[in-house]
Amino acid sequence: MKKINLLGSTGSIGVQTLDVARARGYKIESLAAFSNVDIIEKQIREFKPAYAALVDEKAAADLKVRVADLPVKVYSGLEGVSFCGAEAEGEITLNSVVGMAGLKPTLDAVNAGKIIALANKETLVAGGKLVTDAAKKNNVPLLPVDSEHSAIFQCLLGAPRNSALKRIILTASGGPFFGKTRAELEKVTLADALKHPSWSMGQKITIDSATMFNKGLELIEAVWLFDVSPDMIDIVVHRESIVHSLIEYDDNSVIAQLGHPDMRLPIQFAITYPDRFPSPEKQLDLWEVGNLSFYKPDYENFPCMDICRNAIKKGGLIPAAVNCANEEANLLFRQGKISFLQIPEFISKAAEYAPDKPDYTLQDVLDTDILMREKVRELASI
Ligand code: NAD
Ligand code: MG
Repeated sequence: MKKINLLGSTGSIGVQTLDVARARGYKIESLAAFSNVDIIEKQIREFKPAYAALVDEKAAADLKVRVADLPVKVYSGLEGVSFCGAEAEGEITLNSVVGMAGLKPTLDAVNAGKIIALANKETLVAGGKLVTDAAKKNNVPLLPVDSEHSAIFQCLLGAPRNSALKRIILTASGGPFFGKTRAELEKVTLADALKHPSWSMGQKITIDSATMFNKGLELIEAVWLFDVSPDMIDIVVHRESIVHSLIEYDDNSVIAQLGHPDMRLPIQFAITYPDRFPSPEKQLDLWEVGNLSFYKPDYENFPCMDICRNAIKKGGLIPAAVNCANEEANLLFRQGKISFLQIPEFISKAAEYAPDKPDYTLQDVLDTDILMREKVRELASI
């Protein structure tokens, strides 16, 4: 029976991970989240982990009182999250925290020798070199949960001997604003941006999907996970979200992974790898789907893809800088303080201030985060 430490348990991926654990009877050793006491209390009562943590101190104090009748130990702060990922007994730490706040807990879990199932893409974007170096040093696998990366990972499992990978083709739904002109994008609202056509996800990633910054993050994530150059990665808009991504070999053979848009499959595969088991995902009936469509992305009106591609080409702290600037711009948009088109504008402007440092430490990433958030707020006159 697999034992899991789950970080970000109250969110969209966290809750679906618990669906998988419930269906397959996995033991949950720890649960960590930001502040949602009601949800985590219910999760603790059902899954009986040894440890739990909430970042928010007040919420953690409240939780401690509420679960005093159980043997669970409750921690607080980001250290509490790190403890749950690194010190609890699960052999797999699934990180579904949102944002680069997940970087330190990921590094701590890697250094503790845990197998990492990674949904938290900002971790690889902000600290790709730190995470992959630590994973190599500790000989631990980084298993993708993101559906596109799980698809690529699954396609690569069948790689024949002496085969050279030529290209990775990341599929993108195109989000709610696919096909819109710049004039139309000027007027879009938060409510419009939150209407994703195919996936139900947390608010931050839903906005990232509307700006297409999410696909930029995924491009950088793929560079680190599969050790490929950014030029080997293409993006294709695929509205139905059935083909989750593709790979191409040097003989031009293209291999794809298909399925309904349901995160429980990639979550489960990251946990069960190298085995496969029946999953809650609905069987794919292609006649029901009917048509699969593919389009070129609109790089002009959705510049976030190129912002990310250029950032990973420059390397060093630049990917961290654009990620952190986006985290702040995304938040300000959700708070109604900036417009949709100001998101890419402010990311580009803020990233000009990023320190030029090819070799960086965790502290450099954390300092870049503070600087970028300040710059974006300055640009927004806050
Ligand atoms: P969400 O907002 O629904 O949940 C985020 C979780 O992280 C919550 O449990 C929250 O309490 C916790 N959290 C927030 N800040 C934290 C902090 N500082 N420390 C510890 N925990 C913190 O987000 P989500 O949609 O579940 O996405 C989580 C991650 O997975 C993101 O990186 C996202 O890009 C990635 N992802 C999500 C999906 C999806 O379908 N939702 C798909 C692919 C990848
Ligand atoms: Mg994805």
